Amino acid sequence: MRCDVVAVGTELLLGQIIDTNSSWIGEQLAAVGIDSLMQVKVGDNKDRVVDAIRDRLQEADAVVVCGGLGPTHDDLTREAIATVMGVSLELDDDIAAAIEAMFASRQRRMPANNLKQAEVPVGAQVIAQTRGTAPGLICPVGNKVIYAVPGVPHEMRDMMERVIIPDLIARSGETAIIASRVLRTWGDSESGLNERLQPLINELDRSPDTTLAFLASGWEGIKVRLTAKAITRDAVNVLLDTWERRVREVVGDIVFGVDDDNMESVVLAMLRQRGLTLGLAESVTGGLVSGRLTQIAGASDVFRGAVVSYASDVKFSLLQVTPGPVVSEPAAIEMARGVKDLLGADIGLALTGVAGPEQQDGQAVGTLCVAVALANGEVHAKTFVLPGQREQMRQMSVISSLDMLRRLLA
Ligand code: ATP
Ligand code: MG
Repeated sequence: MRCDVVAVGTELLLGQIIDTNSSWIGEQLAAVGIDSLMQVKVGDNKDRVVDAIRDRLQEADAVVVCGGLGPTHDDLTREAIATVMGVSLELDDDIAAAIEAMFASRQRRMPANNLKQAEVPVGAQVIAQTRGTAPGLICPVGNKVIYAVPGVPHEMRDMMERVIIPDLIARSGETAIIASRVLRTWGDSESGLNERLQPLINELDRSPDTTLAFLASGWEGIKVRLTAKAITRDAVNVLLDTWERRVREVVGDIVFGVDDDNMESVVLAMLRQRGLTLGLAESVTGGLVSGRLTQIAGASDVFRGAVVSYASDVKFSLLQVTPGPVVSEPAAIEMARGVKDLLGADIGLALTGVAGPEQQDGQAVGTLCVAVALANGEVHAKTFVLPGQREQMRQMSVISSLDMLRRLLA
């Protein structure tokens, strides 16, 4: 089974947005054993979209078209697909009513062009929207199929997971169940992980039912994805459980979570489980750690708050840090103790460092000092040397500091 991708949008060609949708779709298809051998980008031009879809449909069994399903004049994916199918567009009354109801429930006037989203090529099946207004489409062309999904990433992902992947699997005639489990890791490089896991990978190469892949996700760490295939769901789970245990035996402590976990959700869950609250003192990250923690619903159970003590004198006056150089482990420790007291938290976590472009206090760009003041009075401090690009340094500071806390809570 082969499914290619056509990403529609002039912004993609102008470099205004990056085509992360195609990569994500490729990842999902690979996980279920479907090849995606060509993925193309095309601007908002009907003739070129038609050509792109026709080309892909010649080579692949299925094509996912993402983007250009919205209500505006440059959204022409629907028209293009109708042309490829050789049919006209028809207003679908149910979709029209749903779109009207959605505007009504938000007490907003519905611009008439929204009804464009209710137009469906004759013979196509609709993929209901659960998040936005533009429905997706399943469009049969002979024994092949075109799927259309919105460009908005979370709407696209929802339709892929809920409808399209299962539909592709069903079409491929595959009766086995395929499922993946992702182990989230932080603290080793892709090559380092690969080296440590090589004996396991060799073993897996000889087994027909399970595969292991690495997915580097930048400052989110490296994902180790296990994909297993078996006749029943239970049998798949047994395979995934077995290989997860084997992987953990080798690289255990760097695995911080599974599947949809991220570092912040894991740390918050550990704090909650132990009945501990957290206060933060952020210098170099300027609130990024707090921002990430509070993205998780329910963070308020354990997260007391943060002091963004960016200027040195704020560290001295508000957090009782001894005046002097502020990028050091002693300064980080005082910040952690200071914020723990100030916010009445059980644990204080502090970050101070140099994001650049200039060095500071004789410390090189990329230096990060983290301290944790624990509930029992213990303090821990550590200095990290991170890559020197400002954004990367700051983002890696977030995950490095939370990982340090995670290890101390373990
Ligand atoms: P809408 O109903 O919101 O108009 P649409 O199907 O028309 O959706 P587009 O207008 O093409 O989709 O894209 C909407 C937004 O989705 C873009 O502004 C961009 O932020 C995001 N987006 C579109 N295509 C991609 C892509 N290939 N990769 C990542 N993001 C994308
Ligand atoms: Mg649009």
